[in-house]
Amino acid sequence: MRTAYIDEWGKPFSIREIPKPQPGPGQVLVRIRVTGVCHTDLHQWKGDWPSLRAVMEANNVRILGHEGVGVVEDIGPGVVRLQKGDRVGVPWMNDWDGVCEICLSGYPHWCPNAKYTSAHVNGTYAEYAVISEKAAPRIPKELSDVDVAGMLCGGITAYGAVRKLVTEIRLPPGKPIAIIGAAGGLGHYAVQIAKAFGYTVVGIDVGSERVEFVRKLGADYAVDASDAERFIKDKLGGVYASLVFAPRISGYNLGIKILRTLGTLVVIGAPASSEGPFAAVPIDILVSGMKIIPSIVGVTHEFEELFNLAVQGKVRSHVALVEPLTRVNEVFEKLEKAQYTGRAVLQVQ
Ligand SMILES: [Zn+2]
Ligand SMILES: [Zn+2]
Repeated sequence: MRTAYIDEWGKPFSIREIPKPQPGPGQVLVRIRVTGVCHTDLHQWKGDWPSLRAVMEANNVRILGHEGVGVVEDIGPGVVRLQKGDRVGVPWMNDWDGVCEICLSGYPHWCPNAKYTSAHVNGTYAEYAVISEKAAPRIPKELSDVDVAGMLCGGITAYGAVRKLVTEIRLPPGKPIAIIGAAGGLGHYAVQIAKAFGYTVVGIDVGSERVEFVRKLGADYAVDASDAERFIKDKLGGVYASLVFAPRISGYNLGIKILRTLGTLVVIGAPASSEGPFAAVPIDILVSGMKIIPSIVGVTHEFEELFNLAVQGKVRSHVALVEPLTRVNEVFEKLEKAQYTGRAVLQVQ
């Protein structure tokens, strides 16, 4: 099968033929049609995160991509849920054990035996990929391959975070919440999803162009980060939750400042560890009653909920670039130089 292959970390991909993988027990073989390009791919390609690179090396993984859309071509022993011909997504979560305390508590996202696409198992910059059937969401026929690709990582990460406002803190619709980094690859989905959930959305980003984009996405208020604290305190008296998508500590510090008493900080964006901790000391947490909850990717039933919103026209991807897989090196150059906003999608076949 044809792949975009990493011969050397951070060096151009080579388009290379390697043997097609075989589906093992509980796995399906997916013939990939398109795959989205995620910012994580850039870090993986460069080997920026030593622990993730070590996992890739230990598993001999040299193919990136965790936003694959394709069709089930073959099924392994014991597969019961999916059939040949089903159109499915191949996202970051490739498998989890389903039997540990964490899985059984409803949080396979944190399963210690989870396997990740493009880390433990080769990714979707290839004509075929394998995934556990329980990790592959079915895609409704109303949604196009290109539209779905970005939802398989950026979209689901945003969805999982907004969903926790309902499942973890039981925040009623109508309440004001802030989305920090609202114009970004994840934040732009979060604005649409939070509106679909009925929240009053304050979208925060930096610079007039990005703020205007947030307004067009449907945020009730679109404000520049430099003015956000004053605006939110004057206009709304604070927000019930701050969802921080921006991978900057300054985004977290702003998120904490604009919370009401008993507000919730939702941790999503991951700043470089060199930026240090965010500004919350125990006494402030005690006095404010602030809760902190993390949110990371999403799993099968959450995808199906997100796709339902997309079918209803409430959530769409902003796709900037669609290119054949053979042009992956040009796309990465643009990604690295931040020459496009929204998502890029590679056509595999
Ligand atoms: Zn991703
Ligand atoms: Zn588990």
